[in-house]
Amino acid sequence: MIVAIDGPAASGKSTVARALAERLGAHYLDTGAMYRAIAHAALERGIDLDDGGALTDLATASEITFEHAGGSALPTAVMLDGVDVTSAIRTPAVDGAVSAVASDPGVRHALVEHQRAHASDADIIVVEGRDIGSVVFPDAAVKVFLTASAEERARRRHMEMAGRGRTVESQIVLEELERRDTADSSREASPLTAAPDAIPLDTTGLDIPEVVERIAVLVEERSA
Ligand code: C5P
Repeated sequence: MIVAIDGPAASGKSTVARALAERLGAHYLDTGAMYRAIAHAALERGIDLDDGGALTDLATASEITFEHAGGSALPTAVMLDGVDVTSAIRTPAVDGAVSAVASDPGVRHALVEHQRAHASDADIIVVEGRDIGSVVFPDAAVKVFLTASAEERARRRHMEMAGRGRTVESQIVLEELERRDTADSSREASPLTAAPDAIPLDTTGLDIPEVVERIAVLVEERSA
C-alpha cells in the first residue's frame, strides 16, 4: 500500500510522513532528498543548471540510497554514490538550486523510476514529495495534500533552521519558501499540484500527532 503525502515547502510533510511511517510500521521515502542530492552534485561539479542534458546524465548515473544506522526503521542518512550528503543537501545553496534541477524532465524521469523501484519492495510505504499522488503513484491507496499558511510555514522553517544553528530573518525565510513554491507550481514537468482525489489537510494550528492521527485513520479505513 502506498500513502502519498504531497504539499508545498515546510507544510509539515517530512515531520508528518516520518511520524506516520513510524506509527504504521511502514517504509518511508523522502523524494525531496533525492532532488536535493542531484542539486548538490550539480553544484559540486559546476554543472550549468540550464544544461538539461548534463543534469539528466548526472541523475541517471547517480546512486542515491538511504542508510538505516543501527537497524533504525526510518532512514538516518542520505547517501550519494556512497558518500553521506545528509547535511550537504540542506544548505541555502541547495535550497536555491533544487527547483531548477527538479524542473528538468530528464532528471524527473530518472528519479521517478528510482522512486517506483524503491516502493515496489515495500508492503506499506509513506512517500512524500510534490507529485507523488499526481504522477509517481496515481493509484496510491491514500493521497493527502498538506498545506499551511505561508506565515506558519515560514515559522516552522525558521525553527528548523535555528535547530541546525542557522539564524535567518523570518521575512527572508518566507520569501525563499514562496520563491520555491512558485517555481515548483509553475514548471511544466510534474508541477506541485494536488491530485483530484487527494484529501486536502490544512495543518495551520494543528499539532503533528493530530495530523498523523487523521491520516492513520484514513489508512486504516482503506486497508479494512
Ligand atoms: O521536500 P523538499 O522541500 O526537500 O524538496 C526540495 C525540492 O525538490 C522541492 O522544492 C522541489 O523543487 C523538488 N521536489 C520535486 N518533486 C518531488 C519532491 C521534491 O520537484 N516529488
